[in-house]
Amino acid sequence: MSKNNDNHNKEKKKNQTTLLIILLILLIVLLGATIALLNKNNSDEENKTLAYTDLIKEISYGNVEKIEMTVGSTKAKVKMKNEEEEKSTILPNTEAFIELVQTRVAEGNEIELKQNPRGFLETASSTLFSLLPTLIMVALFIMLFKMQGLGEKGKVYDDTERKTKTRFDDVAGLDEEKEELVEIVDFLKKPEKFVKMGAKIPKGVLLYGKPGTGKTLIAKAIAGEADVPFISMSGSEFIEMFAGLGASRVRKLFEKARKLAPCIVFIDEIDAIGSRRTSNSGAETENNQTLNQLLVEMDGFGSEETIIVLAATNRPEMLDKALLRPGRFDRQITIPTPDLTGRLEILKIHSKEKRLSDEVNLESIAEDTAGFTGAELANILNEAAIIATKREHEDIENEDIEEAVKKVTVGIEKHSRVISDHDKKLTAYHEAGHAVVSQYLPTQTPVKEVSIIPRGVAGGYTLYKSNEDKYYISKTEMKEKLIALLGGRAGEKIAMDDISTGASNDIEVATEIAKDMVTKYGMTDSLGPIDLKGKQEYEIRLFGDKIEDKVGEEVRRLIDEAYKNAQELLRQHRDKLDQIALTLIEKEKINETEFNQIFNG
Ligand code: ADP
Ligand code: MG
Ligand code: ZN
Repeated sequence: MSKNNDNHNKEKKKNQTTLLIILLILLIVLLGATIALLNKNNSDEENKTLAYTDLIKEISYGNVEKIEMTVGSTKAKVKMKNEEEEKSTILPNTEAFIELVQTRVAEGNEIELKQNPRGFLETASSTLFSLLPTLIMVALFIMLFKMQGLGEKGKVYDDTERKTKTRFDDVAGLDEEKEELVEIVDFLKKPEKFVKMGAKIPKGVLLYGKPGTGKTLIAKAIAGEADVPFISMSGSEFIEMFAGLGASRVRKLFEKARKLAPCIVFIDEIDAIGSRRTSNSGAETENNQTLNQLLVEMDGFGSEETIIVLAATNRPEMLDKALLRPGRFDRQITIPTPDLTGRLEILKIHSKEKRLSDEVNLESIAEDTAGFTGAELANILNEAAIIATKREHEDIENEDIEEAVKKVTVGIEKHSRVISDHDKKLTAYHEAGHAVVSQYLPTQTPVKEVSIIPRGVAGGYTLYKSNEDKYYISKTEMKEKLIALLGGRAGEKIAMDDISTGASNDIEVATEIAKDMVTKYGMTDSLGPIDLKGKQEYEIRLFGDKIEDKVGEEVRRLIDEAYKNAQELLRQHRDKLDQIALTLIEKEKINETEFNQIFNG
């Protein structure tokens, strides 16, 4: 440390003039960046940008109201039908994009396309943009320089120093996980107590879990409860194009942590730096340096320094084993997707500041959202608030929330759009096929709604009542799930003697399930309980081509069988299939009660 400081001082004097010049250049670069940013209209705020591919999707969903572009700029401002705020998107090819929008408009899609002439700012910034590569190079060299010696007291991380107001009470569900983490809070508050007892203090805790399950939230809550600073960085930020920069960032991060101790260091997406060391390609070596530095730092601080490193990942199998050794991340906590009670708690927390109508029943929403993460639930309530505003409701009503749930769940099915009568009939028999088949399958949940009104890219959909939370799924259940999925295709085939692309998503899901049954869950007699899926490409293969052929055969057998079963069921209950399909063609939508009425005669 002290040796390093000496070096700093010497270099500082020698480089004072250089520093001045560098600062001047930096100023110019900053000026350019500011103008560019002005022009970009705060596009750095995450929620205001929209990925190009998402924009295309939204256009095809019919969600886009207005698109504003400027000649000579690749940026477009997008206004959605259901949102107040405009979003911005970078267009990879403006001409192709304009053509696409015009085609959609010709098809009857109502989109206002506005093209503004080029303004002064745009002209100025486009000149600057042409100089940008050079400027960026210069800036990068300066940054590299600063990082490796000249750097003043690392202003880089200042924004993360604030103490957080998040508490355990803000984290819903996860009671057992919180209980385990209370210990960390105690330790941060009174380290002496533990040390006196001779207890080894944990250094690192890894949080495993899907995105949106609340890993960042719980890490913040620990810092909040212990009233210590929360220093955070994301693994992807460490990946740099110059060798050594990632490592030097890690060093800086921990230098700062030592100054602020007791504190929490949070490394999000740790898999970005901590993935298994496998090859020697450029990026890999750079990662190794960063990872090695992290290991050095974690091994380096002793129990006198009260620093707890929390890290989060959703890909635990990718992590380098060195990270998991004692004295590093030797504690691992899995953050699960919330169960029924957890979902209810989360909904309660996130509806606190929302105006919910008295009739809204959070329990039933929790029941309908098995498998949703906390982030998705929070998002649903927010969508519901937007929908309620749009519909000019006094408060958020049940129907607003139901609409929000559907918006999130049904957006995924990819049936083609209904246009002609023939297509409408095809869709009706497809959806009726799903609904009727699953009604005769004991393990499948009851039908909640069937519709042939296009929603998103889906021409129609069948909604089922949500399953209670389960840890295991039986083979019978999986086989019946396959039958339900292929019921759509079977309905088309039986009633119309034709099949359509509308079943593509069903087929995709069914194939994935069948593959898992064979290779992951060992559910076939001929192959037995062997994990044939493997986790890594370079893992030793436990089988040869013959087995691979066998896997193919078994997957095919499962799918064939399910498809046959579905057709059989529909032939047996052809009257029900026709009744449901015809009602759909007439009414376009059938709810649970109506469905049961038709079904029970
Ligand atoms: P992760 O880091 O696991 O991807 P986050 O902690 O960033 O997830 O969660 C995103 C948001 O979702 C949180 O800010 C919070 O609003 C909501 N959320 C997720 N899990 C919970 C939970 N258990 N309780 C309350 N809110 C949650
Ligand atoms: Mg996170
Ligand atoms: Zn389908």
